Amino acid sequence: MDFFDTLGETVASAGKVISHKTKEVAGSTKLSLQISQEEAKVKKAYAALGEAFYGDHAEDMPEQYAIYAVDVKECLDRLNALKKDKQILKNQKRCVKCGALMPNEDKFCGKCGAENEILVKDEEPEEKEEETAEEEGETRVCPSCQAKVSAELIYCPECGEKLQP
Ligand SMILES: [Zn+2]
Ligand SMILES: [Zn+2]
Repeated sequence: MDFFDTLGETVASAGKVISHKTKEVAGSTKLSLQISQEEAKVKKAYAALGEAFYGDHAEDMPEQYAIYAVDVKECLDRLNALKKDKQILKNQKRCVKCGALMPNEDKFCGKCGAENEILVKDEEPEEKEEETAEEEGETRVCPSCQAKVSAELIYCPECGEKLQP
């Protein structure tokens, strides 16, 4: 191998190193992406494992996992409470006159008797269940239209009749 051959090879290999490095940089971005994708998958898999474990052992949680289980329970409780609030709001509207909350399907405000627009609600089975549970509270019958009315209302939501206290 003479000088020029050696030189040529050095240049060539230097070039190789450079192009290899460029490739490495491009590859590193891709690798970072793949790493974060895998990290997300791992998190998801851990979460699924945790959820399955919690589902099976919520009642007999081994002591060493209790600290996590408490967190889960607290968050779940808060989440359910928030969802319930949202559900209640979803089925209610504000009276055009006094601003009181009232069920979407009521025509007259139970607090001030003002006529309101009837809003058609989405029929969802679980809403119906809640409604039935609600109706088990104290009720009375409207003397004018015989509708079952919540005892705390002053006006009948169906016909607007003022109810006797
Ligand atoms: Zn009102
Ligand atoms: Zn009535």
